[in-house]
Amino acid sequence: MVLRRCIRAFSSAAATRPFRLAVVGSGPAGFYTTHRLLKEVDHVKIDVYDSLPVPHGLVRFGVAPDHPEVKNVMTTFDRVAEDDRFRFLGNVNIGPSSESAEKGTVSVQELKQHYDAIVFSYGASEDRHLGVPNEEVYGVESARAFVAWYNGLPQFDNLKLPLDETDTAVVIGQGNVALDVARVLLSPIDTLRKTDITEYALETLSKSKIRHVHVVGRRGPLQAAFTSKELREQMNLPNVAFKADKEWIKSEIEAAQPLLSKNRPLKRMMGILEKGSTVSTTSADRSWSLEFLRSPVEILTDTNRTRVQGIRYELNQLTGGPLGAAKAIGTGQFEDRACGLVLRSIGYKSLPLDGVPFDSRQGLVPNRYGKILDSEGQEVPGMYTAGWLKRGPTGVIVSTMTDAYETADTIVEDIKEARPMLNDDLDKDGADGLKGIFKSRGIRPVSYVDWKRIEAAEFAAGEKLGKPREKFTKVEDMLAVLQ
Ligand SMILES: Cc1cc2nc3c(=O)[nH]c(=O)nc-3n(C[C@H](O)[C@H](O)[C@H](O)COP(=O)(O)OP(=O)(O)OC[C@H]3O[C@@H](n4cnc5c(N)ncnc54)[C@H](O)[C@@H]3O)c2cc1C
Repeated sequence: MVLRRCIRAFSSAAATRPFRLAVVGSGPAGFYTTHRLLKEVDHVKIDVYDSLPVPHGLVRFGVAPDHPEVKNVMTTFDRVAEDDRFRFLGNVNIGPSSESAEKGTVSVQELKQHYDAIVFSYGASEDRHLGVPNEEVYGVESARAFVAWYNGLPQFDNLKLPLDETDTAVVIGQGNVALDVARVLLSPIDTLRKTDITEYALETLSKSKIRHVHVVGRRGPLQAAFTSKELREQMNLPNVAFKADKEWIKSEIEAAQPLLSKNRPLKRMMGILEKGSTVSTTSADRSWSLEFLRSPVEILTDTNRTRVQGIRYELNQLTGGPLGAAKAIGTGQFEDRACGLVLRSIGYKSLPLDGVPFDSRQGLVPNRYGKILDSEGQEVPGMYTAGWLKRGPTGVIVSTMTDAYETADTIVEDIKEARPMLNDDLDKDGADGLKGIFKSRGIRPVSYVDWKRIEAAEFAAGEKLGKPREKFTKVEDMLAVLQ
């Protein structure tokens, strides 16, 4: 044990073999954790796994196509990947042990044999449901699926939406994702053409009959979760009027003045809201609205329950404190509104993974500063988490970076203090030790060099269309580039 502690000593000079770390998930959390560790620990070797052949998680598949500046973080990730202690293994799903053999998956148990530590940063790949009658009918979708569809996440290219069958869409939720989808639904098609939105989405959106988008929240304007930038963009959409009960919004803002004077970002946002759309309601042929104090209680359908025809809300009132603490309480009054498309944007959801503690109530991996805790609250040696899986599916890339750095610092501290890691009695060889498993399960790992080849093909395809890139939307097409 004493000898092990010496081997684990922090200085690279004292290390007789590399410290092997696996990272599960190559989104911002995985990359920023890696970035910090490569900087802080000389003798670390990091293998970053992703179930998809392409890296960067929601930067590629979540961030809106008309926000190219946000995607610039990919160049930071490219620089991380240049370090020869880094290896990317795309197209390797880390999943349940029971599915390992048949589904070309590697289990956590198998990973543990070859690494000193594992960071789980696989994000949130599901969405939350409203739990109201008829939610499953045609025309009700998650914003997550809609975003995945226009951003080209594999297996979403066949998503069916009634975009050419109705002029009214409702988005349930008032966060930035809700505004992203409202903006994409109402943006001029020629604006979208210049982005990396998928061609099939462009084709479908060019035939869309959606003219009115209602963005609905259960609480009031002061509790809305979107930020000023997204709200301003929405207000500035060409030829789109903003409709809302502006007098009521004004009175809510006035009543909150003492609080707003202490909260500059919120004050700025309320200013944008109060000023409202610059487009006059009469000249615009499209509109969007913010509807407050409404909770959906039922999706209204045709008699055969084949499609959406409307939505029933219970009207709410607020109670229990100012701003974020205010709670929406149903009044027992109801309202029916017609619409042909409902997109629920009430949050993403992480899923548990075999062999990793999970708090189902909170929907995250329990942890202390990124170190995973078991059901008794004890630290699990060598197991860490970062990003949306660690703190729940909220927050932008910058907050994910801060949180990933915290996890990396915890790992650095544990290495420095020679704390126990995974199977300390085994010698670790990282992904090299998994080659047999890859071969027997037909898994073809994709390296970062491979990814850059896929990306070059996407740039070339995009150039022909006057777009920054045209994404491959099928795994087999991505892999075909490498053959
Ligand atoms: C629609 C949308 C728009 C957004 N827009 C912005 C924006 O404009 N600006 C901003 O700053 N932030 C934005 N965000 C937030 C930002 O995307 C997140 O903060 C960030 O991506 C979270 O990083 P993560 O690494 O935790 O998760 P993710 O980015 O989701 O990465 C998780 C990775 O894990 C992989 N994975 C999943 N399961 C497995 C498995 N079993 N085995 C192996 N790999 C697996 C996934 O393929 C993925 O690559 C947006 C988020 C969404 C949803």
